[in-house]
Amino acid sequence: MQENEISIIIPVYNESENLEILYDRLKKTLSPITDNYQILFINDGSTDNSMSKILALSKIDLKIFYMNLSRNFGHQIAVSAGLEYCNAKCTVIIDSDLQDPPELISELYTKYKEGFDVVYAKRQKREGESFFKKLTAKLYYRLLKNLVSFEIPLDAGDYRLVSKKVVNALNKMPENNKFLRAQIAWLGFSQTHVLYNRDSRKHGKSAYTYSKMIRLAFDGITGFSDKPLLFVSRLGFVISIFSFLLIVYAIFAHFALEQTITGWTSLIISAAFIGGIQLLSIGVIGEYISRINVNVKDRPLYIIDATNFNISEKKDV
Ligand code: UDP
Ligand code: MG
Repeated sequence: MQENEISIIIPVYNESENLEILYDRLKKTLSPITDNYQILFINDGSTDNSMSKILALSKIDLKIFYMNLSRNFGHQIAVSAGLEYCNAKCTVIIDSDLQDPPELISELYTKYKEGFDVVYAKRQKREGESFFKKLTAKLYYRLLKNLVSFEIPLDAGDYRLVSKKVVNALNKMPENNKFLRAQIAWLGFSQTHVLYNRDSRKHGKSAYTYSKMIRLAFDGITGFSDKPLLFVSRLGFVISIFSFLLIVYAIFAHFALEQTITGWTSLIISAAFIGGIQLLSIGVIGEYISRINVNVKDRPLYIIDATNFNISEKKDV
């Protein structure tokens, strides 16, 4: 792929009804900005006819490139795959369900031209998403912000423009458990945002199930903070001191005061309490270990089935 002015990266999972509308809106937005753009669709193992729609589009427009992954690897990996192959001065990451209005790209690009390396789209309103999703997202990002040692933008998803510098730096981050919005925040560079109203999904349904969302949430925390580990080790320390004092008191009461405490309630409470804390702590440690396990295997993050460009052109960064 030749270097372009703008590259658009679009992860696609079962979005056949949205793709043509998305393409039209993108074209209308991009044409006035530059003629020198590329659109890279990453088909993430769709089971509908998204891929044939992409193929058809790529036949009518030479600016359209695609990567067909061998199965569903997940949104973050699909985007990361796109980042490895796109070639442009600046790159926009956008969802294919039309929740991210393509028209905003002109504003993102204006900010890029002003000299920013990261321009993220900050959600003012979120249409068509449940109260529960909005509430948990809000709470989670505030928690994450407190756990990490760098600035994480609130109320922003992955819809953003990044400069080539940022793309190259991202491609050097080899982790399996991708959490791009935090990775980009971690990188630094000059960052700014534009505000927008997030639309509701036009067709199809969200592929982010609650279990995928929870996994992503844990990836965000374990990938960028070891505070949970410190927290459980401190908790263990405090509880040990408390237990030790209790033991001393129990022995003292038994031998010196000759009053043995008979009490099922106190026993069951302490057993349950310590048991709960132990399981919780092992769980926290397990979250980290499972990620170490995935990362030491050092497998490729995704497998490419087909593309309409030469994949040996992958940038060596
Ligand atoms: N997506 C993907 N692989 C997946 C799940 C989603 O490539 O396993 C794509 C999907 O087609 C969409 C974007 O990622 O373009 C965001 O997904 P979705 O709309 O399901 O997430 P939500 O907006 O509900 O967070
Ligand atoms: Mg969506």
